[in-house]
Amino acid sequence: MDYLPLFCQLRGKACLLVGGGEVAERKARLLLDAGADLRVCARTVTPQFLHWQHAGKLTLIQTAFVPALLDNCWLAIAATNDENVNQQVSSGANARRIFCNIVDTPAQASVIMPSIIDRSPLMIAVSSGGRAPVLARLLREKLEAILPQHLGKLAALAGLLRQRVKTCYTDPHLRRRFWEKLFSHDRLAQALASRDEVGVSQLTEQLFNEPLEHRGEVVLVGAGPGDAGLLTLKGLQQIQQADIVVYDRLVSDEVMNLIRRDAERLFVGKRAGHHCVPQEEINQLLRQHALRGKRVVRLKGGDPFIFGRGAEELEALLDTRIPFSVVPGITAASGCAAYSGIPLTHRDYAHSVRLVTGHEQHPTSQAWSTLATEQQTLVFYMGLSHAAEIQSQLITHGMSADMPVALVENGTSPRQRVVSGPLHQLVNLAAQVTSPSVIIIGRVVALRTKLQWF
Ligand code: SAH
Repeated sequence: MDYLPLFCQLRGKACLLVGGGEVAERKARLLLDAGADLRVCARTVTPQFLHWQHAGKLTLIQTAFVPALLDNCWLAIAATNDENVNQQVSSGANARRIFCNIVDTPAQASVIMPSIIDRSPLMIAVSSGGRAPVLARLLREKLEAILPQHLGKLAALAGLLRQRVKTCYTDPHLRRRFWEKLFSHDRLAQALASRDEVGVSQLTEQLFNEPLEHRGEVVLVGAGPGDAGLLTLKGLQQIQQADIVVYDRLVSDEVMNLIRRDAERLFVGKRAGHHCVPQEEINQLLRQHALRGKRVVRLKGGDPFIFGRGAEELEALLDTRIPFSVVPGITAASGCAAYSGIPLTHRDYAHSVRLVTGHEQHPTSQAWSTLATEQQTLVFYMGLSHAAEIQSQLITHGMSADMPVALVENGTSPRQRVVSGPLHQLVNLAAQVTSPSVIIIGRVVALRTKLQWF
């Protein structure tokens, strides 16, 4: 280990920053956030420093650096672009046994400053010991993305509850169980994120009052159409906290790879040559596991509330009073449209979009005429085996036989394939692709020749 990570308490403590440029400004901001009694030695400074001085946040010393400025300081940072000055700060600080950071020159410094992810009071620091700062920064960005903003508030709440939890649960095992429940409580997280103080205190009291081995919850998560990059941050957090993930065929392997390693996975889709697990059995599974206190994620392709039977699965939980929540996903229509260069609306060609199931039994003639209107884009889900009906009904109800049509197979995945042609060719086109595919019909399809990028 080259460096020992420490978190220092600087509140009210004298710190000297030498330098007044942009880099110095970034360091000053951090020191001010930490509540340091900041002195800044620099002949010229950015306007922000003047602003801070006016606001009484720091003391500006607009002279050349002299080592005596270090007297009584706890920490020194040299952020000038003059190596000589930086060197003087370093030796002055060393002589006084003051920790000192020299920007961009870790070799001369007795402390280095890590990249930080600030969810105060929760703080995460990343450092490569000065060897690969860009790598540390990339890691920081990744962590920033996956750690929800409310984590800090959660840590602060835990701080407030610590004594009470100690008194309530003397057994360390139970205490840990309580904390695990608190930290993975989805609705509490939402209440904290939306600053709903009443909600936070109600849910906290509920946690204290219910038995620790209480029922779990079900989270319905949209996995998006395939490309794992299209999963939402919230969806990712959910699949990384799940005890059990119940999924089906439309969830891509790429997304499946992001599930927490120890989570149990239950496949409920259609297996080759077999039928799907009946809906009632899926509902039963969700109920059973949640009642055993598990955190169940029901992971569905696309968006769970768009042709996903998500609502039915939630309705089945109502009488058990198992808590549930929903994380939307990017639906196949959006994903396929974006990745095939077809805007679903366009000021000149389409003022509305209809997402239609091709599965519906015998739609009425009136329904077909509302579909066959101009200035509208149609996206058929599960429409392949109904292509003949879609083609003939739309034409019968007045849609131009030349209306452009595109079929997108395995949209957004590396196996995506797009075939297109006029509406009167739809049946032939449908024979060239396999499930899952969407059928997009409308003038906007023609824009693909210009906008195709994937
Ligand atoms: N809830 C899903 C839709 C489920 S219905 C969503 O919001 O996307 C299943 C149908 O969705 C498939 O028959 C197909 O029409 C469409 N679909 C799902 N994923 C797709 C993909 N990656 N590419 C093309 N079509 C897809």
